[in-house]
Amino acid sequence: MDIRRISPELSVAPQISVQDVGAAAANGFRSIICNRPDQESADQPATAEIQKAALDHGMAFRHIPAVSGQVTDEDAAAFGKALEALPGPVLAYCRSGARSSTMWALARAPKLSADAILGATQAAGYDLSALRPRLEALSEDKTIISPDAWSTRATRRRRVVIVGGGAAGIAVAASLLARRPGMDIAIVEPREAHFYQPGWTLVGGGVFNRAETARPMADVMPKGVTWIRAAAAAFEPEMSQIVLEDGERIAYSALVVAPGLKLNWDGIKGLRDSLGKNGVTSNYMFDMAPYTWELVQSLKSGKAIFTQPPMPIKCAGAPQKAMYLSADHWKQTRRLKHIDIEFCNAGGALFGVADYVPALQQYIDRYHVGLSFNHNLVEIRGAEKIAVFEDAEGARIEKPYDMIHVCPTQTGHDFIRSSPLANAAGWVEVNPETLQHVRYGDVFGLGDGCSAPNAKTAAAVRKQAPTVAENVIGMLDGAGPRAVYDGYGSCPLTVERGRIVLAEFGYGGKLLPSLPTWLIDGRKPSRLAWFLKEKMLPPIYWHAMLKGREWLAEPTILPMQPAAHEAQDACDFEETKKAS
Ligand code: FAD
Repeated sequence: MDIRRISPELSVAPQISVQDVGAAAANGFRSIICNRPDQESADQPATAEIQKAALDHGMAFRHIPAVSGQVTDEDAAAFGKALEALPGPVLAYCRSGARSSTMWALARAPKLSADAILGATQAAGYDLSALRPRLEALSEDKTIISPDAWSTRATRRRRVVIVGGGAAGIAVAASLLARRPGMDIAIVEPREAHFYQPGWTLVGGGVFNRAETARPMADVMPKGVTWIRAAAAAFEPEMSQIVLEDGERIAYSALVVAPGLKLNWDGIKGLRDSLGKNGVTSNYMFDMAPYTWELVQSLKSGKAIFTQPPMPIKCAGAPQKAMYLSADHWKQTRRLKHIDIEFCNAGGALFGVADYVPALQQYIDRYHVGLSFNHNLVEIRGAEKIAVFEDAEGARIEKPYDMIHVCPTQTGHDFIRSSPLANAAGWVEVNPETLQHVRYGDVFGLGDGCSAPNAKTAAAVRKQAPTVAENVIGMLDGAGPRAVYDGYGSCPLTVERGRIVLAEFGYGGKLLPSLPTWLIDGRKPSRLAWFLKEKMLPPIYWHAMLKGREWLAEPTILPMQPAAHEAQDACDFEETKKAS
């Protein structure tokens, strides 16, 4: 689906399919407007089908048909009214997206300047310049949004700007406010929903309902923070400003970059079109995790494949967690002997930290899982139910399946990769201990999108956020960064329903258990660890981590370096003492 953002309230797309509706919901859209009359072309799905899918996903829906090339002022007024009434953000579609853009442009013409409107639609790829005379005629006040917003000067300044309102962005804002109540902070975040992604494994395992893993973004924004409902598009660190998608610039004294990473669903040929049907699923998508559980329950016999792409990925254990929980269900329901399970891993080991492998291997043996290392999924032919892998030599191997759980390849976001903040691999390049950018002292990065070589997990974010908060304040106060992060990350491997192998480790694979080993020995399956994951970690996430309560996450603060002359005085004193 080719979604183009026009404004924080509206994105447009060419004709969408019923399957796209789920993806739109997962992307945070709350309403859909269809601007095509029915039966405009032979290949067009019925509006009623799209409407049903939208309602099934809890979205609002409006049909405001307009004739292509003949959008009337009445059409535009109806569109404007719908935008006011519907919960946003809204996705509008027609054949190409141009009609929906035109309706938005005409609806907004009384309040926005023609330059502003045409700039926004042009940036989305729709050249509506022919509409200029009509837009100008409709305009009541051309100065409400001046073309200045499209100049290269910042129109707003904030003490701290945070890009991304996910686990990392919200946690760091809360930790900053815990230290400096009332601090001037803005979070740039385009989504209306905030997701507790660690819960998706349990949705796919039939333990959680997916609704438990999402909350309105407005509810998790810390009090006092300004939420800028927009996406960041670029960085101008030399001028200490960021550029939003509509071209507006915001200047900062400190910038925290936390936009997570890009799940590259298009990196595997045929995957996007197959998801949600033909036995193809993934717990890496909010909307798809319930389908995993549906497939697990319905599979009586046959072949089940679970894939893992090349590292780095977020929660490196998640692909096999999905497998263990599925296998456990098949064991409990006495179907395991009829189901052939295979774990196809692009890497060469079951888990990156060797201490946890023996416990995991026991479960691989218990569930009779076939291990295929150096098998990288490159294509899915959904209709035929064939998955194509490439081995280390580049040879293609075709495997038929009845069910396949796919973990997509993952990279830094495009707007990060192309920015001066990125390292060669496309991640925000930070010092792994202080999380300060290596070239721009007023920039910090944390979470899945930064270059620190920790396990990309919310558990890591829980420890990174206080470190960044300390160091941002240190930088703003002129004292420099003194808090250090030890690389802690955690991966609760759900090896069976009711037991977890709790991997907790830092840089270099050093084991960093949070609790004494007599309570939880992470190298052995543990019931208490399951209790922690199911019952305790979600409230810790929502009510501690996102609220600036740093339970077991206080940063290590290095002692203040003495100024050079103080150090010299101390030496002189020692020397004098020795001499006397
Ligand atoms: P995210 O939480 O993904 O947030 C990024 C935010 O940035 C989003 O809100 C996004 O909308 C926003 N954004 C993106 N682009 C822009 C832009 N251009 N401008 C502004 N904002 C933007 N972790 C654990 O600790 N334990 C687990 O058991 C666990 N299991 C997992 C299982 C699954 C299936 C998955 C998918 C993840 C799991 N994780 C787990 C990983 C954990 O969820 C992530 O590591 C964590 O969410 C990272 O936080 P983040 O803020 O960096 O990214």
